[in-house]
Amino acid sequence: MTFEVQNRIGDARQPASDGATLQRHDPADARTLVSVAPESTGDDVGAAVAAAAQAFPEWSRTTPSARAALLEKAAGVLAAASDEIGAEMVAEMGKPLGMARKEAARTPKNLELYAAEAIRLTGVTYPSDDPGATVYSEREPVGVVGVITPWNFPLNLASRKIGPALAAGNTVVFKPSPMTPRMGERLGEAFVEAGFPPGVVNTVHGVAAGAHLVADERVGAITFTGSTATGARIHDAVGLGRRLQLELGGNNPIVVLADADLDAAAQVVAQSSFSLSGQACTAAGRILVATEVHDALLDLVVAKAAAHVVGRGTEASTTMGPLIDGRAVEAMAEVVADAVAAGARVVTGGSRLEGDLAHGHFFAPTLLADVDPTMALARTEVFGPVVGFERVSGLEEAVERANAGDYGLTSAICTTSIAAARRFAMAIQAGTVRINRPTVGAAFNAPFGGTKRSGTGTHREQLGPTVMDFYTSLKTVFFGS
Ligand code: NAD
Repeated sequence: MTFEVQNRIGDARQPASDGATLQRHDPADARTLVSVAPESTGDDVGAAVAAAAQAFPEWSRTTPSARAALLEKAAGVLAAASDEIGAEMVAEMGKPLGMARKEAARTPKNLELYAAEAIRLTGVTYPSDDPGATVYSEREPVGVVGVITPWNFPLNLASRKIGPALAAGNTVVFKPSPMTPRMGERLGEAFVEAGFPPGVVNTVHGVAAGAHLVADERVGAITFTGSTATGARIHDAVGLGRRLQLELGGNNPIVVLADADLDAAAQVVAQSSFSLSGQACTAAGRILVATEVHDALLDLVVAKAAAHVVGRGTEASTTMGPLIDGRAVEAMAEVVADAVAAGARVVTGGSRLEGDLAHGHFFAPTLLADVDPTMALARTEVFGPVVGFERVSGLEEAVERANAGDYGLTSAICTTSIAAARRFAMAIQAGTVRINRPTVGAAFNAPFGGTKRSGTGTHREQLGPTVMDFYTSLKTVFFGS
């Protein structure tokens, strides 16, 4: 069955105004067409922004309780369909069914969390030097929020943006990834089904739609999660006067010191590097290992790589699904070839998988040794199951190498030394530091995001207690009599 996805603009489900479509094929078997979605024009995106702008005044005046109740209803709509949605997610983007179901079940919880934020929002009253005036700051919604998201967590990431935007009284134009249009439609339509007024949540699909949305000056805030390359383009396009949140890519290091528990460290490395086939922004592609334990750790991680069952996400035995598309497979082959040409050694994997899996975009879990900091593998985001081992003399060299990179999303260290863990946590340039824990994942009550080229540094506004700051403006009032 192929999903016929439509845009949602105001109260209408509709195709692109010129009828153009994009097609999404199953990454596990490219012969299967999964979804057909609108390739929206600039006019379509403009209409969605107009609908959101028109809906804003009335929506922004609704009570916090009313907004919370609708968010809870949307959570209920998603929760009721979560098994079905999980299966559709596997068809569009390939992750193993268990992981997809987990994401589908977690997404409604995000909306419940943000429902409560609608009620919890506060302002601040300040001591006043002017006895005749009360000085306070109050929060206002920003207006129309543009939400642009990637495919790797197609529901969860978008719900973490749309939820707080709506809770604060903003209206939304949502632009899901062209890789996962059905997931975008599922999420967008849940708000409609829950009873949000027309125009409060609009969904537009397409490859070019994101740039149209960013260019529209009526969009007061843009929250984007995706690659650093796209984020840089958006950054250039937004200019002064509009709010921008960029959550971008990473090249996340794990440091393993000589005193580490090696079995535990091997588990940390394997989980960080291969879950979601390495297609997580928090995946670790760079393992900086103290020379004394390098070979022993490598052997342990090779065994873990060999234990992975690579296959279709629909198979219960699968632990690693396909990559998102053919280009991603080519990118893995290139990064391996580049490293080998520069002197690295393939220890396991290194190529795409053929045989039964030849019609999908499968790449073997791959470990390379003798990687050095000049290789693309050590400098760029790989976003796949290719991992490089580098030998380091100890903590100081590891930190120096890690900090020399362009990214600063997440990081980890495996050590039994409290002093080394403390020093690492202080010195590493990254938004998140994990001690003896995998780099992957996030907690929805703790801030998440990156420094340097991993984002705009507004990560305290993505997850955690200050999440609502991005979606509200503060107005300071000097209230005299
Ligand atoms: P991508 O940058 O290719 O696309 C992301 C979204 O941007 C898509 O919806 C796309 O259609 C849209 N887009 C493309 N060009 C645009 C433009 N010029 N203007 C506006 N929008 C545009 O990223 P992807 O391949 O979908 O996702 C993978 C990337 O996302 C990786 O780099 C990964 O690290 C990153 N990511 C980051 C986080 C985080 O929280 N930091 C989380 C998940 C994924």
